[in-house]
Amino acid sequence: MVLTSQYRVKDAGPARHLERQARAVKRVRNDCGEVQHAARCHDKRWPSAFDLIRLASGSSKPRGLHSDAVQPVCTPIAIARDARHERPRWLGRNSLGRIPLQAARAIRLDGDAVIFLGRRYRVWLSRPLEGRILCGCFAEGARGRWYLNLQAPVAQDRACGTGEVGIDPGLKSLARLSTGEKVEAPRRYRQHDQALAVAQRAARQPRVRALHTKIANCRRHGLHEVSSRLVRENGRICVGNVNAQGRARTAVAKSALDAGCSQLRSQLRYKAIRHGAEYIEVDERLTTQVCSACGARGGRQGREGLVVREWICCGCGARHDRDVNSAINLLVSGRNAGLR
Ligand SMILES: [Zn+2]
Repeated sequence: MVLTSQYRVKDAGPARHLERQARAVKRVRNDCGEVQHAARCHDKRWPSAFDLIRLASGSSKPRGLHSDAVQPVCTPIAIARDARHERPRWLGRNSLGRIPLQAARAIRLDGDAVIFLGRRYRVWLSRPLEGRILCGCFAEGARGRWYLNLQAPVAQDRACGTGEVGIDPGLKSLARLSTGEKVEAPRRYRQHDQALAVAQRAARQPRVRALHTKIANCRRHGLHEVSSRLVRENGRICVGNVNAQGRARTAVAKSALDAGCSQLRSQLRYKAIRHGAEYIEVDERLTTQVCSACGARGGRQGREGLVVREWICCGCGARHDRDVNSAINLLVSGRNAGLR
């Protein structure tokens, strides 16, 4: 499997060079959009990726852009816009910088540093920097820090557990497991929203950005802990396919986004592959209403039914916690889907 790792670029000095490159990338990108827009306005032939690269590579030298960076800039624009003839968003001064790399040619690894365009960029070695790199990019964070993202193949040799677990993603708690365990949502945003409000009222943008970054980092860290533990303990993981984007448009949007349900699922998905575990997304319709012991439909329906956390099955008399029952149902349907 291919995994993308992120390293923070260490020095403040080389950031200037990266910023200059990023500006050139933005210009090339904007130019590509303009060329395509002009072609459409004047009913000219639609420029392909090849045409865009040929046009842009002439200007790469005066702009100080590495010629290898032109192709990874132009090709995605051509692919995206061939499908949908819309004008791409204009990248101005305030949009975050990004320098795509054809990593095999453009950068060279050297200890705790990468060499790009003859300059050494030292990185914080959060994990070893080695192996065959497929592609990557330098990306600017909201706080003006630069990161190096590298895609490299990793071995799928980690051991997975022998257990099975059904996971019902929620809002109040991050998830409820079929074992009855409750994984608490860290509610990072709610922890910091007072400080955030103060900073926003005072229009202190750097502080606001720092707080948002801190919240996102804390949330991601918590989710990594949960997902790693689940994959280490279990060989089969069945998760409900909650529509997280849909929830983010409802009245509970803040809690839904704060819980980070989609992020947890994507972490579980890739970690399961790496550990050789089975990851199954299960349709969660009816899972809250069907009794996990006898299969009768007795639970409350809809949003009004959400207040009822516990119910007694009219078929077999079993007492159910709404979320645990749902998680067990998810595990059972996941197991059936896996056996099929
Ligand atoms: Zn029952």
